[in-house]
Amino acid sequence: MSDTPIHNPESPRVSILLVDDRPENLLALESSLEGLGYDLVKARSGREALRSLLARDFAVILLDVQMPEMDGFETASLIRKRTRSGDTPIIFMTAVRKADIEVYEGYSAGAVDYMFKPFSPEILRAKVAVFVELFKAKANLEQQILEASRLNQELARSNKELESFAYVVSHDLNEPLRAVRNYLDLLTRRCSGKLDAEAEKFIAGAFRGAENMQRLIKDLLAFSRLSSKARPFEQVNLGAILDGVVEILNPAIRETAAAVTLGDLPAVMADPVQMTQLFQNLIGNAVKFRGEPTPTVHIFAAPAEQVKVSVLRDSRRSGWLIGVKDNGIGISRDHFDRIFMIFQRLHTRREYPGTGIGLAVCRKIVDRHGGTIWVDSKPGEGSTFYFTLPGVEPKDA
Ligand code: ADP
Repeated sequence: MSDTPIHNPESPRVSILLVDDRPENLLALESSLEGLGYDLVKARSGREALRSLLARDFAVILLDVQMPEMDGFETASLIRKRTRSGDTPIIFMTAVRKADIEVYEGYSAGAVDYMFKPFSPEILRAKVAVFVELFKAKANLEQQILEASRLNQELARSNKELESFAYVVSHDLNEPLRAVRNYLDLLTRRCSGKLDAEAEKFIAGAFRGAENMQRLIKDLLAFSRLSSKARPFEQVNLGAILDGVVEILNPAIRETAAAVTLGDLPAVMADPVQMTQLFQNLIGNAVKFRGEPTPTVHIFAAPAEQVKVSVLRDSRRSGWLIGVKDNGIGISRDHFDRIFMIFQRLHTRREYPGTGIGLAVCRKIVDRHGGTIWVDSKPGEGSTFYFTLPGVEPKDA
């Protein structure tokens, strides 16, 4: 018998507690369960059993009912009262009537079984095997939960690190970039007319590069500030937010003659600045990734509980489902998940300008609001970006 204090799911050996005041009964139990890889721990009284339970976890307890001093039922009640052994299954070994056991079962929590003396070793082994399997499965599950929570913490920590890294880098890059732009400005002003066409072309290329970099820095800063600049939620009228977004995007909307239409939009508990950012990215993309026809963008909302389950990707059916539907170039199903990752783009900057940060920002915002964001699309037919706002408390970013 080993003295392993806690069950280790890696190790197949589990402990079983045998409690009986008569040595010959303990011996009988022991010989029935020998050779099956269990650690068999023996106790000669209820008190001794309780002491053993302080030191380790058992898969199951075989408990004699008729013992002097403290009988099996009394011992079982004390076992149940302790947190560590509160759920440990008990098999009562008894010569008493089944009805007496049922009385006990009536007020006892946790798994209880019984065996009548003289017992059949086969049945005992089968019963014990069931509880041992349960115990192993539970230990395994607990281990997995522990591992998942460790991974979650790790992920949250590395996300935070990435954010502060992105913040520092984008912030510090602004300075030298400004200097480059200033020198380029000086060069064009001072040397205008003195340079040949090729040199002018190079300068224009340098300007474009600096502009791209500036946009990247701006987007990266916006991404890294999502947590630090997060505001508490307040009652936000999405219709009013969208009016503001259409105003901001007015130059692009006018230039492309896009028709942006709004359905009935609700008031929700949200961060108003982040709602603006979210719609600005989605509508901006809908106009940017337009196809041949004049762009149309429709923004609509529906109560989540009225939406068909096949549409809703969010298992919670509370709050709102919001959609931004366009008639643009569409996206192939293979990229539905990828596009929400930072820096993931499906086109070159020459085809469509951008940094690949917009949808990563959207996902982070929706996540903070407790919702889910996804896309449904067919190449050449347009895309609908959906997200849910379940109306929950803000998540700690
Ligand atoms: P960016 O717009 O800067 O490229 P995003 O993160 O906003 O970055 O989008 C990532 C990619 O997802 C885009 O490059 C584009 O390929 C695709 N995408 C986003 N919105 C749409 C849309 N409405 N229609 C078609 N493709 C889209």
